[in-house]
Amino acid sequence: MLVDKHGRQLKDLRISVTDRCNFRCRYCMPREKFGSNHAFMPRRAFLSFEEIEKVVISCKELGLEKVRITGGEPLLRPKLHELIKKLSKLNLDIALTTNGSLLRKHAKDLAAAGLNRVTISLDALSQEIHTKMTDSQTSIETILDGIDAAIEFGLTPVKVNCVVQKGVNEAEVKKLVSHFQGTDVIVRFIEYMDVGCTNDWMLGQVIPSKDLLKYLQKDFDLIPINSISSSDVAKRWMHSDNSGEIGVISSVSNPFCGDCVRARLSANGYLHTCLFASGGHDLRAIIHNSENITTLTNAIKAIWARRDDRYSEQRSTGNSALPRIEMSYIGG
Ligand code: SAM
Ligand code: SF4
Ligand code: SF4
Repeated sequence: MLVDKHGRQLKDLRISVTDRCNFRCRYCMPREKFGSNHAFMPRRAFLSFEEIEKVVISCKELGLEKVRITGGEPLLRPKLHELIKKLSKLNLDIALTTNGSLLRKHAKDLAAAGLNRVTISLDALSQEIHTKMTDSQTSIETILDGIDAAIEFGLTPVKVNCVVQKGVNEAEVKKLVSHFQGTDVIVRFIEYMDVGCTNDWMLGQVIPSKDLLKYLQKDFDLIPINSISSSDVAKRWMHSDNSGEIGVISSVSNPFCGDCVRARLSANGYLHTCLFASGGHDLRAIIHNSENITTLTNAIKAIWARRDDRYSEQRSTGNSALPRIEMSYIGG
C-alpha cells in the first residue's frame, strides 16, 4: 500500500480544469490582483481531457477513490461533460465544485455523462453581501436555480460551501441554515483560510467553527453525527428533529493534516501535495511523452512517498510568510 511520510494514502485527487473564473471573490481572486493585467495560463497549456484521464488512471493504480473537478470556475471549461464521461468509466466517485452561476445550463449534460454530485459555493443569501463577496453580478436566484437543477438531475447529495468571514457574512450563516433546513442540501461552513498570497488574510477575520456552532445553537438544536470516513474534512451536525444536516470545516482552528489524503492537479499539469504548497511537481513531460502509463504511475508514486506536508498543523510556526500557490490555480 502506498503511503506518504506520515502514513497517509492517496485517495482523493482535485483536478483544476482552468485557472479562470467569472467571479472575483475577495477571498480568492481579488480584482485588483486578478484584473485585466493578470497573466492567466495560456489555454494551450491546459492538459487535454485525455491527459487528465491518464493522470487519473495512474492515481487509481495507487489507490485513488475520489476525483473532484474544480478550478477557477470549472464550468468555464468548454465541453466539460466529455471529461466526466471519460472519468466515469473508471469507477471512481466523481464530484464537482462550482460557483453555481452556470450550473442550470450544464447540470443535465454533466449528470448524463456520469457526474455523481456537486458542491456549490454560496456565501450569502443577501444579494448585497453576495455581490460584495464575489464581486460579480450573478443573482442569488441564478445560483439557487443552479442548486435546484443539481437536485433535479440527481447530482446529490448537494452540498453548499460557505466561507465565513468575520465582519462580512456571519449574519448570513443562520439564514443559510434556515433556508436549507427541511431539504437534503447540506450547508458547510468553512473557516476563511490563508490560501495564496493575494487576499491579505488575517487570523482576526476567521470565526472558529466552535464559536460559529455556539452562535447557531442559539437558534437551532443541532446534534453531532459521525463522519462517514476519517478523511472527511467536515464535522457533521444534524437538526435534532431530523430536518437536515450541516457541516463545519475547521481548516484553521482544528487542522486535519493527519488525515489528508488529497493531491491536486493544476490545469497545466503540476501535481501539488498540499493546498499550501509553494510549488508543484511538473508532470507535463511525462504526461505528454509517455505512452506507457507505468512511467507516470511511478513518478506520482515517488512524489507521494516523499510527501511530508502538514502546513495547517504548522501554521503558527512561522511558515505563513512562505510563497504559496493561489487557490484559483490549484482548486479548492
Ligand atoms: N469556482 C469554484 C467555486 O467557487 O466553487 C471552484 C473553485 S473554488 C477555489 C473552491 C472552493 O474554495 C470554494 O468553495 C471557495 O469558497 C473556496 N475558497 C476559496 N478561497 C478560500 C479561502 N481563502 N478560504 C476558504 N475557502 C476558500
Ligand atoms: Fe472563482 Fe471560486 Fe475563487 Fe470565487 S472561490 S473567485 S468563484 S474560483
Ligand atoms: Fe492537507 Fe496541506 Fe491542508 Fe494539511 S494543510 S490538510 S496537508 S492540504
